[in-house]
Amino acid sequence: METIALVLDETIVVPATDQDARDLMLRLCVHHQQLSEGARATAPGEVSGRVAGLLRTTGELVGSPVPDDLSKARDHLHSAASAVKDLLVTMGAAGLVCVHHPECPPAAAPDFHTAHQVLRCLATGYSRLCNGVVLFEDTGYLKPNGEFGPPSRPLPRVDGEVLSA
Ligand SMILES: [Zn+2]
Repeated sequence: METIALVLDETIVVPATDQDARDLMLRLCVHHQQLSEGARATAPGEVSGRVAGLLRTTGELVGSPVPDDLSKARDHLHSAASAVKDLLVTMGAAGLVCVHHPECPPAAAPDFHTAHQVLRCLATGYSRLCNGVVLFEDTGYLKPNGEFGPPSRPLPRVDGEVLSA
């Protein structure tokens, strides 16, 4: 997803020719495709109505033909680029897509625990990582596919008498 930010930066440089405009639009189209696949890969309940709506409107923008008139093409490209950016920011905030540089390791990677922490609940002691893994303070982790794991560090030992509840 790193490349999306780069492409969005590039679109600030106004396309010089209508061929440039079409190339940039094609790249936005590819990014929209990647984002919608990312959204589909998660549980349907997790894709909020807002993300679904943005996916739809962005899809219409990137899917419509680039106008032949260069100044109209620029306007069109800018609308499409900011729609893709809104979508990316919204999906990033919802934890549906990684917006970090470099990209966080996926939940299946051996170093999954090094992903950015996107949410931390002090009261219950869990944190949610960018790749969807939930880390519990002392009791291990839960991956998006339902896999549980052992604690990353040993549980504190209780010496002496244990009070029963
Ligand atoms: Zn990330």
